[in-house]
Amino acid sequence: INLNMIYLKTPEEIALLRASNQLVGKTLAEVAKHIRVGVTTLELDKIAEDFIRSNGAVPGFLDYGGFPNTLCISVNDQVVHGIPSNYALKEGDIVSVDCGTLLNGYYGDSAYTFCVGEVDEKVKKLLKITKESLSLGIDSAQHGNRIGDIGYAIQKHCQAAGFSVVRKLVGHGVGRNLHEDPEVPNFGKRGQGVLLKEGMVIAIEPMINMGNRDVVQEKDGWTIRTIDRKPSAHFEHTIAIRKGKAEILSTFDYIEEVLNNK
Ligand code: MG
Ligand code: MG
Repeated sequence: INLNMIYLKTPEEIALLRASNQLVGKTLAEVAKHIRVGVTTLELDKIAEDFIRSNGAVPGFLDYGGFPNTLCISVNDQVVHGIPSNYALKEGDIVSVDCGTLLNGYYGDSAYTFCVGEVDEKVKKLLKITKESLSLGIDSAQHGNRIGDIGYAIQKHCQAAGFSVVRKLVGHGVGRNLHEDPEVPNFGKRGQGVLLKEGMVIAIEPMINMGNRDVVQEKDGWTIRTIDRKPSAHFEHTIAIRKGKAEILSTFDYIEEVLNNK
């Protein structure tokens, strides 16, 4: 990694990144309202696109590298980068919804894995542990620590629960570009890797598998799924590094308000 490629953000830029990321959180909450048995992932995509545009922003993933939609929607054994389709959600599915926005020149990026109806206890545990690991990763993401501290915290928590960490895909810097340096792996060693500095903005996004950590890409050229077809979970926040605890620029608050009232 070329350290010169890591852009430290000013407070003004962080305010713009916060606004874009808050819109992602609100968009995911709109999607959450509509997640139920029978809804197609393409219907969810349309809801998100309309909401983002009505808020003066542009979908961040649409046309990014040729991606055809607003959301990446990945069901069950799909890990990330699933393409919305006519697939109708079924009782017991888990569905990772990853959303990006571009607002006033700055990107937002956040993801949440939802349950459809009643989900198997072991799968629920996978979601719980993955979400907890994101919080632990964020706790480690402080000025003066290193990238490896983040991955270490995530990996330790997930492996202790018997789950595995996807290694082929990683988190990333966020700014005027959706994907900036540094890479943010969900595995690592304490004290190793890029030094974290106040003003860095990164997306931390554990992708955690119930079974084998290996993944493959489907023939559609996008969808990543587990090699053993067991389920995978994905949660993502975009954060700003500070001295002390990082500031979470994205939010799950709006999503969880919806889920708690369902
Ligand atoms: Mg994302
Ligand atoms: Mg991301």
